Amino acid sequence: MARGGVDRLEVLWENFRLSKEESLDLEVNEVEDAMKDKGDRSLVGKVCLDRVIGKEILSSMMAKIWKISKAAVFQEVGTNIFIITFHTIIDLEKVWEGRLWLFDNHLLALRVFDTGAQPGAMKFEEEVFWIQLHNLPMGFMDESRGFQIGGSVGRVWAVDVPPDGVGWGRFLRVRVEVPLRKPIARGRLITVNGKKVWVGFKYEKLLRMCFTCGWVVHGEDGCKGGGSMEAMEPQFGAWLRAEKNFITRGVKQKSRWDYSTARDYEPGPQ
Ligand SMILES: [Zn+2]
Repeated sequence: MARGGVDRLEVLWENFRLSKEESLDLEVNEVEDAMKDKGDRSLVGKVCLDRVIGKEILSSMMAKIWKISKAAVFQEVGTNIFIITFHTIIDLEKVWEGRLWLFDNHLLALRVFDTGAQPGAMKFEEEVFWIQLHNLPMGFMDESRGFQIGGSVGRVWAVDVPPDGVGWGRFLRVRVEVPLRKPIARGRLITVNGKKVWVGFKYEKLLRMCFTCGWVVHGEDGCKGGGSMEAMEPQFGAWLRAEKNFITRGVKQKSRWDYSTARDYEPGPQ
């Protein structure tokens, strides 16, 4: 499909001279009960893949991966974009809290179902990853540093620490909304007692990304190349992948219902 085809359709009307009937301005407010019930059990997902994927294969493959009570129903609303309706709210919560998900090693980005959103205008601009923060000095492997450093990447949903907030280990794990519309963050330079320290990031479940431009998934305009970094040392590589994915130690993370209360930090200098 031509780039921006749907977007054009959405803005095209602004140039129309509307007839009297067309501009009736029909007001739609109340959502029907059946719609509300289904909407409450639904998410919207996008498979970030060039070829078109059928809803049946998605439904059966994801049911195995998600281990839910009954296969979710996928309804196509755009190219590789689906409304995913679960059998129960419990299934939905399990999938939502278990992000990030992959279909055939490709990202399946998920969004909360929003009755007012138009399928063609849905944006999948970030996804939640577990990032491992390596090299953090021991005195700073704690929850608030996790929020601070993770918050410079995106909204932080959880820091994997025991109740006292001290997260000693080989690294600190932070659950962060990672922006997909730019090169992936490789780490952060921090200053500890006047000394500069590089905190390197490793991403769990990062099976695919472009090592040339650093994007996890290319946008519609494809690879942006390495820009001014070209012809220098490789800027991205397999070192960004965590060797192993870890089980979270019972961290209570923000559910989709209290999304707005997730703690935000101002992004630091890039
Ligand atoms: Zn690329």
